Amino acid sequence: MQGNNRTLEASELFEEEQRDRRIAMVRASLSGRGEEHCCDCGDPIDVARRMAMPNARRCFDCQEDHERR
Ligand SMILES: [Zn+2]
Repeated sequence: MQGNNRTLEASELFEEEQRDRRIAMVRASLSGRGEEHCCDCGDPIDVARRMAMPNARRCFDCQEDHERR
């Protein structure tokens, strides 16, 4: 019983560690993705947009303006 429990705990610990690492990675990548606010107009940039375009520094409208110029 003791031995079985230990094996189970070990694998559970491992899975928990993996999960924690994944969460930490997601958090790090989320917070490191681009700017939270448009560098042109200062409006908050949509999270979905930041996820899709990690280097986006402008909101959609300003980016279009910027690219058109
Ligand atoms: Zn903008």
